[in-house]
Amino acid sequence: MSYNWKRVVVKVGSALISPNKIGCSSHYLLSIAQFIVKCRAMGTQVVLVSSGSVAAGAHQFSDHEKSEIAVKKAMAAAGQTEMIATWDRLFDFPSAQILLTHADLRDRERYISIRETIFSLLEHEILPIINENDTVTTDKLKVGDNDNLSAMVAAAADADALIICSDVDGLYDKNPNEHDDAKLLSWVDNIDQSIYDMAGGAVAGGVGTGGMRTKIEAAEKAVSHGIDTFIVNGFTETTFNLLLDGKNPGTHFQAHDKPMKENIHWMRHTSNAQGEVIVESDFAASLESEAEQLTSSEIIDVKGEFSVGDTILVRKDDGTKLVKARSNYSSCLLNFIAKQDNEEFAQEFEKKTGPIISNKHIANLEKE
Ligand code: GLU
Repeated sequence: MSYNWKRVVVKVGSALISPNKIGCSSHYLLSIAQFIVKCRAMGTQVVLVSSGSVAAGAHQFSDHEKSEIAVKKAMAAAGQTEMIATWDRLFDFPSAQILLTHADLRDRERYISIRETIFSLLEHEILPIINENDTVTTDKLKVGDNDNLSAMVAAAADADALIICSDVDGLYDKNPNEHDDAKLLSWVDNIDQSIYDMAGGAVAGGVGTGGMRTKIEAAEKAVSHGIDTFIVNGFTETTFNLLLDGKNPGTHFQAHDKPMKENIHWMRHTSNAQGEVIVESDFAASLESEAEQLTSSEIIDVKGEFSVGDTILVRKDDGTKLVKARSNYSSCLLNFIAKQDNEEFAQEFEKKTGPIISNKHIANLEKE
């Protein structure tokens, strides 16, 4: 019995690609490549999210430069070609490189373009290989780790499953390096604080940027989009044989049976709020169904700078988060209209300009 996935995203970390940090090695990639080949033969489309450019490029730079950000970016640029070439050699079908930043993913139009490109590549049986575009990222523009990136990609690609290849067998109830009696959790149906507590904050392996925590964040994003997520040990061939047999080799995070709609998921998990709108504490608890009812008279403050179309966070003045939504007004205009003493003028203005936030792109945050 197999899992019967139509589309799967496989995330591979730096430690698998560059285990000795001296260029790329196909040692651990062979069984992953075999898995990808077999999935495709079974009719499952595969998208690969691969880290490893920084680790692969590092050996071309002298030691004393390595900690500088600009040098790290140069290492990523130099290592990316080597990493793609290493993957490409393992397949007898074409692959395609996609480099993304968070700025690309949070912009709705670019996001749609990424989706369509992935669909088109898959339709033409080309393997998309995705990494963060480290050259052009800044703190504000980066996803930061490929675990979260892989979940955003899985959502964009409408995948059924996300397989995160790690250097441990999955999520343990306590740190297996410190506790001999640590137990592997094979099944998680609800990601709550206790799961994050088990994950701790440690960075596994030390080659990539993610640890168990970012893997849980990724799982949370993915399952809410209806994507079954697995954290597995990418270093052993058995992992992939088990997956092909429809058996769980690590930790399986169960997909929600009522997943969020694609646009709501994007707003909730991919788009970043560029600013905040603070409303009265007694403002209606849920804006989701009544988004268009937010009027300037309810606004106490507007924070940050945003443009029309940017995502904003609406909070009560006691700090409670209400919704993330797409703003139809710039921060400048919203400030101007919210500060009007003349309510009639404000109402007339809004009638002409339209609702402040629209029902189409809104995600409820009340449970946070
Ligand atoms: N983009 C980074 C690289 O290719 C990886 C980030 C990560 O390890 O999560 O080296």
